[in-house]
Amino acid sequence: MANPPLPVENSTTSFWRSQSLHEIDNLRSPNFPSEADIVIIGAGYTGASLAYHILNLSPNSANKPSIVILEAREACSGATGRNGGHLKPDAFIKAAAALDEYGKEAAEEVARFETRHIAAIGDLVRKEGIDCDFVVTRAIDVCLYDKAHHELKAKLDKLRDAGVDVGDVFYSSGDTAAGFSGFKGARGCFSTTTAHLWPYKLVTHLLAKAVSQGVNLQTWTPVSSVSSAPTSSGRYSVTTDRGTVAATKVIYATNGYTSALLPSLSNKLVPVRGICSRIVCPPDAKKRAPLLTNSYIMRFNDHEYDYLIPRTDGSIIVGGARRDYYHQLDSWYNVHDDSQLMDKAEHYFDGYMQRHFHGWEDSGAVTESVWTGIMGYTGDGYPFVGRLPEAKGQFVCAGFNGHGMPQVFLSARAIAEIVVQGKGVDEVDLPQLYRLTEERLGRQKQHVSLAAHERFQNEKRRKEGAGG
Ligand SMILES: Cc1cc2nc3c(=O)[nH]c(=O)nc-3n(C[C@H](O)[C@H](O)[C@H](O)COP(=O)(O)OP(=O)(O)OC[C@H]3O[C@@H](n4cnc5c(N)ncnc54)[C@H](O)[C@@H]3O)c2cc1C
Repeated sequence: MANPPLPVENSTTSFWRSQSLHEIDNLRSPNFPSEADIVIIGAGYTGASLAYHILNLSPNSANKPSIVILEAREACSGATGRNGGHLKPDAFIKAAAALDEYGKEAAEEVARFETRHIAAIGDLVRKEGIDCDFVVTRAIDVCLYDKAHHELKAKLDKLRDAGVDVGDVFYSSGDTAAGFSGFKGARGCFSTTTAHLWPYKLVTHLLAKAVSQGVNLQTWTPVSSVSSAPTSSGRYSVTTDRGTVAATKVIYATNGYTSALLPSLSNKLVPVRGICSRIVCPPDAKKRAPLLTNSYIMRFNDHEYDYLIPRTDGSIIVGGARRDYYHQLDSWYNVHDDSQLMDKAEHYFDGYMQRHFHGWEDSGAVTESVWTGIMGYTGDGYPFVGRLPEAKGQFVCAGFNGHGMPQVFLSARAIAEIVVQGKGVDEVDLPQLYRLTEERLGRQKQHVSLAAHERFQNEKRRKEGAGG
């Protein structure tokens, strides 16, 4: 078999990883183990959350499983170390789709699961004393074209009419939308409770705690294969170029890279490249820019949206930039290489604040850094969380569709309960739509991202045909 496309070694440097790296960033625990009760592949938000929950569920040293985390690069160097840090629950858009397709119970589960992450991460940060700039605020979903505005409003109304709890969504339209959001040209806005944080600091804190409790962490140790059947001793062989670990249970926390190890998930869990930036204002700017306290999603058309998070240090994180690369499918879909920017998008963020925000015209805001990262997109848009149908002792917690911050922590808790306590999938707190089942995998036909791209191409052709 050809070598699977593993994380590349020379990834772009994100702002979050550009300073104050944690001492465990490159850690290789003493002794490369030959066996373990549980091997977690991947040391991002998912891997760290899994270790945290597994250890919490096994408080006595007598029943504490031996855990090995194998990470291809540095700790938290995947999507988690290069994302926007936006912990923004989707209170109603996914839920509305779930309502149409799967009914009220499924819609409610999806909406609540995400929303509960704000409290869950807030509690975690307080309990563990994690210094990660955790801020709870409001996110404003700004619609810059009427179709999105009307469609989102209709979704919200439909959920409310069906009695689905969508939480504290505040809606504003017309003239008040631009004033409320501060965004030029806003037609409609939806504001919800949100949070943001420094993900690298959260994850490395959790990993360091796990290591202090006996977890063996091996960075720079890519897994090249996992045996699909256990040996006679009931263990799977997890192979790396530094040796093989025989593990009773294996958990894939490999997000966008999962199908490289599990070819059965190819076309169902696809690596998708995203781009993000940090914008800063010079201290000697002609005019001080207005303070932004909310975070944002900006919807420009059906295929283009950005997200923006003002940081506690006054800088701004902006990601998206689809305007400049979405048309070129092979620059983002099925791409596992985060050592390159999408060239066309490199300058997308220049002048962004001046272009879009009232009062920022003379701010002098400039792009300080731009980086890319690899996300895992599933065929139906919901994560894959559960036991691998073809291997009883192997589990997947991956495919967070570029939106893992409000989905990962509690998904990892569900997997930890299944693995440690032997609970059934019906006994854990996990939306039905996230469950990894043979039936769900069989149902997946055209990948949602490909279907969306096809719609985009058709629209483009139609406009060109109409001379528009
Ligand atoms: C540019 C960008 C912006 C984003 N912005 C946001 C945002 O603002 N809000 C939000 O909710 N989500 C955002 N996301 C998505 C979010 O970052 C992910 O959903 C989340 O971090 C997933 O965490 P994870 O631990 O599952 O994956 P990752 O952080 O990618 O971790 C997987 C780890 O597995 C390792 N690995 C993979 N294969 C192997 C192997 N064979 N052997 C050993 N190790 C392996 C990788 O090196 C990696 O460290 C963004 C993603 C990107 C790329």
